[in-house]
Amino acid sequence: MSIEVNQLTKRYGEQVAVNSISFEVRKGEIIGFLGPNGAGKSTTMKILTCFIPPTEGSAKVCGFDIGENSIEVRKRVGYLPEHNPLYLEMFVKEYLRFAADLGGVKKPKARVQEVIELTGLVREQHKKLKQLSKGYRQRVGLAQAIIHDPEVLILDEPTSGLDPNQVVEMRDLIRQLGKEKTIMISTHIMQEVEAICDRVIIIDKGNIVANDTLDNLRNKDNASFAVRIQFGSAISEQDLKQISGVTQVLKTGENQWRIEGNIPELRQNVSHFALANNYEVLELASEKNSLEDVFRKLTGNVGNI
Ligand code: ADP
Repeated sequence: MSIEVNQLTKRYGEQVAVNSISFEVRKGEIIGFLGPNGAGKSTTMKILTCFIPPTEGSAKVCGFDIGENSIEVRKRVGYLPEHNPLYLEMFVKEYLRFAADLGGVKKPKARVQEVIELTGLVREQHKKLKQLSKGYRQRVGLAQAIIHDPEVLILDEPTSGLDPNQVVEMRDLIRQLGKEKTIMISTHIMQEVEAICDRVIIIDKGNIVANDTLDNLRNKDNASFAVRIQFGSAISEQDLKQISGVTQVLKTGENQWRIEGNIPELRQNVSHFALANNYEVLELASEKNSLEDVFRKLTGNVGNI
């Protein structure tokens, strides 16, 4: 197991930021750590990277306890903190050399060159950090995180503030690193999770409210069902609401509807309704529960995604 978290709690004075959470991350997994702002994501990540101690509970990274063996943990963890703090007056190479020396890298010069190539920084390597765009600064942050070739990477909102092209590049880079490493990535962007992650842990107000694969989350416990339909003529909302299992009806266009329900037979019921009433159907399709729906349902959060 790469990460084992056991009843971890963090209190800041009266405020409970993380409330007795437990979870595990297997070697080689890419885990999405999701939650609204203030849910406790950064706090958990800071604890796992030995930046702050927990109030209660314990955690192990690669088998080493974060309290008793924090040096061993740090050797095996690469961390890209939220907001990626950098020394802006330093040159890229100089900063990475500094990080390499701090990380006890054996052949620092060669390793710096290696991570510069790996993270696509070759053309920027002679610049000062303050001269780099946000996207390239994030790459430097990632280069810094992997410089000592850690087994586990903990990335706190690595794509936040990047433009769409930079986001795609950063995700590709993370996916590539994920072939060899265990990665825990926090985000509140659903597409990010869909694009990168094997499994999702959702945290809300310090509590874990879901821990599952994307498919299971979309299909199983949080199951709601939706059907997209286009009729050949006008139908009233009231009529559609009479269909067995329907919970909500939304008009999406000219004679087009999204019908939501809470039973798996929803599509059949809609089809029977149309047949029984002789309504012409131009299109009928099941829609997957989106991860956004699941997230909203579990966290009661409507904004912030
Ligand atoms: P997230 O990363 O999910 O946005 P955080 O872990 O940053 O959440 O914060 C969780 C909660 O703990 C929030 O309510 C936040 O205000 C509080 N918090 C975080 N850091 C501190 C701190 N240093 N002192 C007091 N409260 C804090």
